[in-house]
Parts: sequence; structure tokens; C-alpha cells
Amino acid sequence: MDLSATTVFSGGEFRRYDEAKVGLLTHGLQYGTGCFEGIRGYWNAEDRELYLVLLREHYDRLKISAKILLMELPYSVDELIAMTVELAKRNAFETDIYMRPCIFKAAEDIGVRLHNVPDHFAIIPVPFGTYLDPNKALNVCTSSWRRADDTMAPPRAKITGLYVNSALAKSEAITNGFDEAILLSHDGHVAEGSAENLFLVRHGKLYTPDPSQNVLEGCTRRAIMTIAESNGIEVVERSIDRGELYAADELFFTGTAAGIAPIGTIDRRTVGTGTVGPITRKLSEIYQRAVRGQEPAFASWLTRTYGAKVSA
Ligand code: PMP
Repeated sequence: MDLSATTVFSGGEFRRYDEAKVGLLTHGLQYGTGCFEGIRGYWNAEDRELYLVLLREHYDRLKISAKILLMELPYSVDELIAMTVELAKRNAFETDIYMRPCIFKAAEDIGVRLHNVPDHFAIIPVPFGTYLDPNKALNVCTSSWRRADDTMAPPRAKITGLYVNSALAKSEAITNGFDEAILLSHDGHVAEGSAENLFLVRHGKLYTPDPSQNVLEGCTRRAIMTIAESNGIEVVERSIDRGELYAADELFFTGTAAGIAPIGTIDRRTVGTGTVGPITRKLSEIYQRAVRGQEPAFASWLTRTYGAKVSA
């Protein structure tokens, strides 16, 4: 990825990516003591507008992740939102993008701890097109790796070091010929994908693990629940057994990068008809329109970059 021309926000200033460096001994790099967000921006060519999605929700979550790691974001959520819009504007993006705000322990010394270590905050934006084809159903497996438990390191915080857990599961899945992994919790209940929340459809109802199941409380997860409920689809948050995945009519992942990603097989068993199911398709179509400013009911999720008027 050539980022040389990209403007980032780092150390309190807007600067070129190449000019924003961190040292080899940086605490966050050596010990995984950082947290981050992934935020999407979707370009609508007709409106000539870049819509930034769920900024407040992402920055609220970043505040919580930082608090858990004994760090304090030096900006309010409103300031972070304004900064993010300014960053998108300075890059003059006319394409879909992904923004990576992060705050990490910045000391360059030896000694694992959370207290008494200075922090560094940065936002790095990158052009970012389609991550997963929403019309292709994924082949997924149950991972042999378990999702980290909240008693070890809290998965509700988006902690950099915790992504070793995700990376182990993802690489195991890919090298075994699957597209993605589903991780179970230590107690055998379904948690989530390597970087996605999981939903199942059965008898017309939507089920997803509740926040006590060692999942990240996904912003897309919440958005999909809102779309479902406003379309008369009941959503149940509860603990889910592995066998329920095999009995599901439809299964799909949700996440900022992918939106909704349908699942066609789980552990070599076909889900429903093996193609994108009707409820998944409906939710996905509404979500895809919503993030490009084409669903007035969900306009409050979006922040405009350029401020252009939406055509009637
Ligand atoms: N779980 C994990 C482990 C993730 O990394 C992500 C991606 N941020 C998600 C779930 C989905 O969360 P969101 O919808 O906020 O992107």
C-alpha cells in the first residue's frame, strides 16, 4: 500500500504518513498495549459526498477501550469526529475509505505494564474498496482456537494485542482451505469471527451472542439489529451452541470492513440453500444503501465530509 501521499493525524498534528514514525522499542509494538478502531467512509458519486459511518459509536468504543488500558484520549468524541472529517477532507478522497484511529503506549523502554506510560494517538486513513463480495457466501470453519476470555483480556475492548487470537484463527482457517473462522468461547459457546460478529437466522428470527459471550460489541452488529427491528424481524441476544450453527437457516457475519458477509457452509455443512438467504439479502441491501446516504431512516448514522446537498 503506497501511503506516501496520504495525510494522517499523529502526535497532535496533521502530517504526511512518511513523516509520522514510531521507534522500534515502542511499548505498543513490543507488548500489544494499544487499542484502535476501524471506521468506514463510503463515496457516493451522485451526491459527490464521502459519508463517514457511525463515527460517534466508534469513538465512544475507543474511549472505553482506552479506559480499560489506563489511557486517556486527549480529545472529546465531538473533537475526534471533527478531526476525522478534517482528515478525510485534507486527503480529498473520492473513493471508499477505511480510517484507523489508534492510541497506544508510546514509551521506548523495557518493562511490561499499563501505568505510567505515555500514550500516542493517531488516525490513518486509507482508500479501501470492497472487502468481501456481499453476493458470495463464505465457507467457514469452527476454529480450534478459543476466543480470549474476559478474565484474560477483555474482548469488548478493541486491543491490538488481542488480535493475535484473531490472526491465529484466521490463518488456520485460510491454510485449511476456508474463508474465515468462527471462534468459540472457553466454555464452548459461539463467540464471533476473527474480525466480525456473527448472526444466525432460524424460523424468521435473528440470533446473535449477547455481549457477555466474549465478543466485541460491534458497531455494525448494532446497526443490523436496528435495521432488523425496524423491519419487523425479532432479534434475540443470547448464548448460542455450536450445533445451532448447523441447524441455522441463514448465517452471516457483520463488521465495519465487510458490512454483511453471508456464510454458505459451516464445517462443510451447507447453511440453508448454500446461497445468500432472503433475510441476509434484505438486511444487506438496506445496510449498503444506508451507508451511502440512500436510506433517510438511518441518515443519523452518517457524517458528511464535504457537506454537499443530497439530490432529491
Ligand atoms: N469482532 C471483532 C473481533 C472485530 O475485530 C470486529 C471488527 N471491528 C468486529 C467484531 C465487528 O465490529 P464492527 O462492526 O464495530 O466493525
